[in-house]
Amino acid sequence: MEDPVIVWLENARRGDVALVGGKNASLGEMIAALAPKGIAVPPGFATSAAAYRSFLAANDLAPRMRDLLDDLAARRGTLPDIARAIRRLIEVAPWPEALAATIIEAYDELCRREGQPNVAVAVRSSATAEDLADASFAGQQETFLNVTGAGPLLDAVRRCFASLFTARAIAYRDTKGFDHLSVALSVGVQLMVRTDIGGSGVMFTIDPETGFDRVVVINAAWGLGETVVQGIVDPDEYVVYKPLLSDTRRVPITEKRRGEKAIKMIYGAGGERTRTVPTAKAERRQLVLDDADILTLARWAVAIEAHYGCPMDIEWGRDGTNGRLYIVQARPETVHAHEDTSVLHTYRIGAKGKTLLEGVAIGEQVVTGEVCLVENVADQADFVDGAILVTHTTDPDWLPVMKRAAAIITDHGGRTSHAAIVSRELGLPALVGTGTATERLHSGQTVTLSCAEGDTGFVYDGPASVTAETLSLTDLPETATKVMLNLANPDAAFRWWRLPSDGVGLARMEFVIANRIKVHPMALVRMEAVRDEAVRQQIEALTEGFDDRSAYFVTGLAQSLARIAAVAHPKRCLVRFSDFKTNEYAGLLGGSAFEPAEENPMLGFRGASRYAADAYRAAFALECRAIAMLRQHIGFTNVAVMVPFCRSVNEADKVLAVMAENGLARGDDGLEVFVMAEIPSNVVLAKSFASRFDGFSIGSNDLTQLTLGVDRDSERLAAIFDENDEAVRWMISTVIREAHAAGAVIGLCGQAPSDHPAFAQFLVGEGIDSISVTPDSFVAVKASVAAAERELARVRAPA
Ligand code: PEP
Ligand code: MG
Repeated sequence: MEDPVIVWLENARRGDVALVGGKNASLGEMIAALAPKGIAVPPGFATSAAAYRSFLAANDLAPRMRDLLDDLAARRGTLPDIARAIRRLIEVAPWPEALAATIIEAYDELCRREGQPNVAVAVRSSATAEDLADASFAGQQETFLNVTGAGPLLDAVRRCFASLFTARAIAYRDTKGFDHLSVALSVGVQLMVRTDIGGSGVMFTIDPETGFDRVVVINAAWGLGETVVQGIVDPDEYVVYKPLLSDTRRVPITEKRRGEKAIKMIYGAGGERTRTVPTAKAERRQLVLDDADILTLARWAVAIEAHYGCPMDIEWGRDGTNGRLYIVQARPETVHAHEDTSVLHTYRIGAKGKTLLEGVAIGEQVVTGEVCLVENVADQADFVDGAILVTHTTDPDWLPVMKRAAAIITDHGGRTSHAAIVSRELGLPALVGTGTATERLHSGQTVTLSCAEGDTGFVYDGPASVTAETLSLTDLPETATKVMLNLANPDAAFRWWRLPSDGVGLARMEFVIANRIKVHPMALVRMEAVRDEAVRQQIEALTEGFDDRSAYFVTGLAQSLARIAAVAHPKRCLVRFSDFKTNEYAGLLGGSAFEPAEENPMLGFRGASRYAADAYRAAFALECRAIAMLRQHIGFTNVAVMVPFCRSVNEADKVLAVMAENGLARGDDGLEVFVMAEIPSNVVLAKSFASRFDGFSIGSNDLTQLTLGVDRDSERLAAIFDENDEAVRWMISTVIREAHAAGAVIGLCGQAPSDHPAFAQFLVGEGIDSISVTPDSFVAVKASVAAAERELARVRAPA
């Protein structure tokens, strides 16, 4: 039986690539398999490979195309000229009557089904040899949006046929070894969703940077989705934690970052189908999606991933007329699918030059090199091999230059832009959405691009010192002692998801505040006390769009901590209330208005003493609200809290009371409350502390400082700051013994075992329950804990 010329999308299946190309096959599969689950895909039909072939045959084009391709092979013409000549052959060839009639009939049927004439459709190319596992190279052929009426439709379909012979498509097939004439082009004709007056974007069912597979990452902008795909707009970004999606009481959104969204693509007027216009100020301020839409899309993403059985890269749209969401495309994510998961590469940046630019970091590497600024793809011959490519934005035409670059920096684009996707696939670090790279950087300038510091990347002036390490994750031993992670940078937290840790043993809230919130919490409660006009303006800018300023703190802190809690989930994540010293608090925006100048902040107004004090009580209430939001609203009930620097039992009682006043009563909803054991008083009165808390975490940094009387920050005393000192060891053994005698669990989260893995041996010998270390030392500590446990078993075994 001959293949049909028209295939309705609902009748196409995943395996029909030869008939309708990869894109249309995927759309058909989703309509058939996922529509029953409530996932909406706009309806439509496809012209099949047979339609394309019959078009060529009716016009006897193949021999002429073959001749031109032979000319190209024999170098009797340039690639652009020959490509143009082939396209021209197709574009001027008349439609065979019967074929045209069949396509128009299908279009009329679509109009009938929609109940209106001349419905607007998207006309998209779908090549039959499109390598589905090679996403960044897809989208090589034409797409025509907002096509209405039979004549324009036929014209668009024919131009799609012709676009199989753009210079870049020919070059791509040559490198992949595909025969030009055995590839065919199917054209998808799909009902337009009115995203021009709504919004659209892209989502991944894993974190595209780290491969973290328990999140969905969604990008969103106003108008048609091409702006996000091409990376000419800086979109909003939302992150959703998948395992909590099934619990309808929770809103597991761990990130809602507002993008600039300076432009949008809308329907054009007159002859033009679409055009790009600036967005209104209100649109820039507003998030494109609300929580309900974010959760719906995330649920759909999870269902699509489950159906295909692999991580997916999905395009979605929201119709502005009815607010409905649609999936317009889905294909397998390709980068992490091919990744070696047995090793973890880490990069750390040391001494570096001045920060020149910031942007969205793609990849995790650091590269130093010379800038080569190329503004137009037509000038790609000017690019110097191995340089850092700096440009406005990229599209598939840029691929040849990108392949020759050591790194890529663009003005525009988000995590799902062309530049980002191709960079990942090429294994190159990139910084996208910098806004001003092409203005600020110039050719020949030496810079360092760092993507090793989390989601935000930086360009530094000149070279920088970098340590690169490869951690092997194969054959890591099991240990009875828990080995946990100290994580404090929400931006970089996802990077560590592959470490087989027993949860997070210390998340220092003050680091998260410094990294993400930047404003002193009291300044948000009592802005009138902040007199400095420049500071007030900075605070106004940061808190723009929030109902009240304290919501900025609470939501921001809860979402930032959620990124850390997600890495630990379902294991415990111990979040410690803020423990800045007064001088550090004063350094936050607006902080100087609220903090006393102390002679010795290390021994000053810090830790537990602040929480019930008038000068900080209102701010502590915000810290509590953030934890409540994290546990109850977002749903991370694996989060336990910890009280730092608690000098006395009386202070402990006060803190527990203030926490309860702020909705965090110990034991409520399973809330565990820990206390740091880091002051000699905690050791001396361990039993009394144990009766008030669920457990301890030893802070060997402060405990060493206070046992030996050595300022931990003093350079001059560095040599005598020693956690291995007998007195410090006595403190540690004693508090472990006392805690256990009182039935409390006890771990250690100070720096000592991270810096000296052998210290772990001592702790294991003392019977500690857990050790929490910095992620880069996790593998070494895990090994030394295992060795210590083996040794202990040997010594204790009966002879
Ligand atoms: C410690 O004192 O060991 C500790 C972990 O806390 P910080 O270093 O934050 O004072
Ligand atoms: Mg401490």
